[in-house]
Amino acid sequence: MVLFDSHCHLTDRSYIASLDDVISRAQNSGVQFMLTVGLNIDDSLASIKIANKYPDVYCSIGIHPHDAKGMRDGDMERLEKMISDTKVKAIGEAGLDFYRNYSDRESQERAFHKQIDLAQKLGIPMIIHIRAAYPEAKTILLEHKYFNGVIHCYSGDDIFAQWAVTQGFYISFTGSITYDNPNLKDIAKKLPQDRILIETDAPYLAPVPMRGKRNEPSYVKYVAQTIAQLRNSTVENISELTTKNSKKLFGI
Ligand SMILES: [Zn+2]
Repeated sequence: MVLFDSHCHLTDRSYIASLDDVISRAQNSGVQFMLTVGLNIDDSLASIKIANKYPDVYCSIGIHPHDAKGMRDGDMERLEKMISDTKVKAIGEAGLDFYRNYSDRESQERAFHKQIDLAQKLGIPMIIHIRAAYPEAKTILLEHKYFNGVIHCYSGDDIFAQWAVTQGFYISFTGSITYDNPNLKDIAKKLPQDRILIETDAPYLAPVPMRGKRNEPSYVKYVAQTIAQLRNSTVENISELTTKNSKKLFGI
């Protein structure tokens, strides 16, 4: 069984003392591949460092909607320079979060537009974060006509999911698929198998039976197990197809 945790945050403070152990626990549970996701300029640089330390760890670089208000002139050029590192596989996470609103909406929209422009210019996929802003995100994506990437930690409805996969996006599920969440479970049941990714979003959103603890990439197997049950499949089969999908999207 070879799993791919397509979205985690290995730069998180909670891993500093034990990152070697976190990575070896993941690899001992079949999680060969991990992609650590950048949240802002400094975090993207830190993600590149981690990705270069471990052979099967990759990374993305970008500005999270929570950090959009801190975006400065020249940040897109800074990101563009980072792309030359061969471990960088995507732009993100970028998007809109109108649930927390840690950045004002205007800053979030500006950062999203600029990062789509950059991804489009470079022809690389995006890791897209959307929370309580699905219609607004759809409008922006349609404006750019750039549909190369993944809608991570999916929390939208069935209609958006169908639209997204028809355009060519992947949909990624976190530990929230293991919670009591009938609508999300129903979406995971019906999606075409070549559009599904799995992730932990660690250190957040630990899946059942680890809910409430610090999450880590080794727990992505619980996400795979839940999706296997929902789709009357096996965990081996779901691991294989989601790993294949992640590799295809990120060009690995
Ligand atoms: Zn994330």
